[in-house]
Amino acid sequence: MEIAIIGAGMGGLTAGIALKKFGHQVTIYEQAEQILPVGAAISLWSNGVKCLNYLGLTEQVAKLGGQMDNLAYIDGLSGEIMTQFSLAPLIEEVGQRPYPVSRAELQNMLMDAFGRQEIQLGKKMVSIADNGQYVEIGFQDGSNARAELLIGADGTHSMTRQYVLGEQVERRYAGYVNWNGLIEISKDLAPAKQWTTFVGEGKRASLMPVADQRFYFFFDVPLPVGLENNRTEYKTLLKQYFSGWCPPVQHLIDSIDEQKTNRVEIHDIEPFTQFYKGRVVILGDAAHSTTPDIGQGGCQAMEDSIYLSRALQINTLGLEDALKRYQNKRNERANELVLRARKRCDVTHMKDEQITQAWYDDLRKEQGPHIMKGIISNIVGNPLD
Ligand SMILES: Cc1cc2nc3c(=O)[nH]c(=O)nc-3n(C[C@H](O)[C@H](O)[C@H](O)COP(=O)(O)OP(=O)(O)OC[C@H]3O[C@@H](n4cnc5c(N)ncnc54)[C@H](O)[C@@H]3O)c2cc1C
Repeated sequence: MEIAIIGAGMGGLTAGIALKKFGHQVTIYEQAEQILPVGAAISLWSNGVKCLNYLGLTEQVAKLGGQMDNLAYIDGLSGEIMTQFSLAPLIEEVGQRPYPVSRAELQNMLMDAFGRQEIQLGKKMVSIADNGQYVEIGFQDGSNARAELLIGADGTHSMTRQYVLGEQVERRYAGYVNWNGLIEISKDLAPAKQWTTFVGEGKRASLMPVADQRFYFFFDVPLPVGLENNRTEYKTLLKQYFSGWCPPVQHLIDSIDEQKTNRVEIHDIEPFTQFYKGRVVILGDAAHSTTPDIGQGGCQAMEDSIYLSRALQINTLGLEDALKRYQNKRNERANELVLRARKRCDVTHMKDEQITQAWYDDLRKEQGPHIMKGIISNIVGNPLD
């Protein structure tokens, strides 16, 4: 089949690689002239890693991944360890290590695996017309393309979603701002092979190892939406928001490079169930946009891609049947994870002070199994289990 994918993010690229393996003729159209991933890094949980392993990228992704052996929560103000444990039981249960990876490196690896020559950059899709036999795609530069199937992997502001649903849905502000970046591993910050999270006052400062002796760091602060975003003030503001927090958090703020730090106001989208119309289908953030609180947005985009390509491969009753199977299977799981992330987000970011305080108290009693059970429940149920 001739397939056009809109968007060269992790969803579009993973789908492209999978569909090419099944013999389809795939072109990816990307609006950006140059691919610059938003955000510094991402935690690829074991379900996301399994999707890439399935596509033959086992060694490549392992090379990019940090060694995350342990997990710890620290009281951000006092510096006292609330809980600290090995992730070995989780890895053993799900059968695959999670890998925090640099986004730019993941993007490059996926682009190489797909084939850069079949990615058309500077192609912003502005119109979709489905005549039942094929889809005609119009681009901002005046050019057109034709495909038997159009896959909208065009992210949270998706135009394809608007076409499929017949309306543009509003994004919902989740109530907090996230700053993130990469920094050299140092023992003044946290142990090198540990995912360390400092919590308190509904805020977080977190460090995860990625390859080449780097930590992916992020800060979360509950704040109103739409505040001024001035890069040169990031350190001053973070010092203010984390005033009185323990020395590693102060050291982290002192060490960041404001020019290489990203600031994101976190949103999600109320789940919906329609993922296709005619010969047009959506996946990834276009289909289910989540807060990053359980680190599953990108992993779900990868699961969508594997499931969609397999649905097209193994069902022979026609395109409509395969797309319906994909839609029904995927909206059940992905939408459930959007709601789980939203719940986690509210607890972490002190939507209700009592609930967040109770969570902090639970962390002090935790020895690992309860937290790991939660993470495992996000990982299992993936299309490759
Ligand atoms: C702070 C933060 C932390 C996160 N952490 C994690 C994590 O730890 N683990 C995890 O799994 N997920 C995480 N996520 C979520 C993850 O980043 C997204 O779910 C993932 O990037 C979605 O991939 P996608 O391919 O669907 O969309 P995108 O990555 O947004 O890609 C969409 C692409 O489509 C292109 N495009 C859009 N419109 C058009 C058009 N009209 N024409 C042509 N091209 C177009 C865009 O330029 C873009 O390149 C995080 C998100 C944030 C904000």
